[in-house]
Amino acid sequence: MAEIRVDGARLWDSLMEMGRIGATPKGGVGRLALTDLDKQARDLFVRWCEAAGCAVRVDRMGNIFARRAGTDDSLAPVMTGSHLDSQPLGGRFDGAYGVLAGLEVVRALNDAGAATRAPLDVVAWTDEEGARFKAGMMGSGVFAGLQDLEAALANPDPDGRTMGAELARIGYAGAEPVGGMEIAAFFEAHIEQGPVLEAEGIPVGVVLGGQGQRCFRVTVTGEEGHAGTLPMDRRKDALLGAARMIAALNGVAFAHEPHPVITVGALQVRPNSPNTIPGQAVFTIDSRHPDDGTLATVAADMRAACEDIAAEAGLEVALEQTTSRGTVAFDETCIAAVRAAAERLGTPHRDIYSGAGHDACNLALIAPTAMIFVPCEKGISHNEAENAKPEDLAAGCDVLLQVMVERAGAAG
Ligand SMILES: [Zn+2]
Repeated sequence: MAEIRVDGARLWDSLMEMGRIGATPKGGVGRLALTDLDKQARDLFVRWCEAAGCAVRVDRMGNIFARRAGTDDSLAPVMTGSHLDSQPLGGRFDGAYGVLAGLEVVRALNDAGAATRAPLDVVAWTDEEGARFKAGMMGSGVFAGLQDLEAALANPDPDGRTMGAELARIGYAGAEPVGGMEIAAFFEAHIEQGPVLEAEGIPVGVVLGGQGQRCFRVTVTGEEGHAGTLPMDRRKDALLGAARMIAALNGVAFAHEPHPVITVGALQVRPNSPNTIPGQAVFTIDSRHPDDGTLATVAADMRAACEDIAAEAGLEVALEQTTSRGTVAFDETCIAAVRAAAERLGTPHRDIYSGAGHDACNLALIAPTAMIFVPCEKGISHNEAENAKPEDLAAGCDVLLQVMVERAGAAG
């Protein structure tokens, strides 16, 4: 089956059609997890998979698995996939590419009349982005046993709607147990979301692993007061304290070499009234680094910086760790398979680390796993301007087909 190639135009057309669901004015996508738009995207994916002859099942986390049968379905499946949810102002390729590349592998094998010994599963993981329920990689996290199912389902969005209720509402609270299945290998195709591949003109990144990540929710508590009557020197302004902490956290990043990346991306102010001194401010911290030891030191430095400022300003501060992921090293044999497939196809490639977290980082804990990166324009992602070239997307998908067939075994 070494001669089978994917249909790059069909893959592109599917991406464009999927991108119409939740399309934003500047050419991006806003498709938050478990919204009506996410349901539409899921429905379209399921329809396409069933049309391609796959049997679709949904687990209790709403993860969707589309199976292309093998000649020996007692064998563990070779799995691929990614996510269909996006950031509020995200792009058309982040996640959707990995899901639809998997579907294109199935379609291309169907066209070629080619069978594999082990079955192939194409999966769409629930809520990778963490933009709505504030903790990302949820579906794959529960699947990999990192998070408790019931706790995940009870996770609320800012309006108090839980994941479980929203899954039920959109019709994707499946009956299948989450995880506990044997997986022969997991491969995820994804845009790089960074500038390296494009800058070097290389279409395929062989991903060696992902950097570690620690996230926190920081609650700064002061005292509400009248904006007109309370003198400046008597105030306990929670937002002012939070602002100083945010600036200090940026300083922590520059104090370490090589720099970790530290982001404060969400902030809530209470009561959020123009003429009341803020009594409470809650913000998030996302910190990442390829070295676990450095990441731990950075976490301690961030905590100290926030506590020092709170003490100085007469405020209370509480840092709650919401996510902790160690550095992930992908499976040597899967990495080698990706590299060898790119070689066979004559596709220029290079080794690369993932700066972002991916579902594959969770899967790596329970199955031999690797990722395939393709370039995206100027490295822009989590942005409506996110873009990628059809030929690069096809090149990554061809590598995906090769490694999946190799792992599943060609039949006949
Ligand atoms: Zn993604």
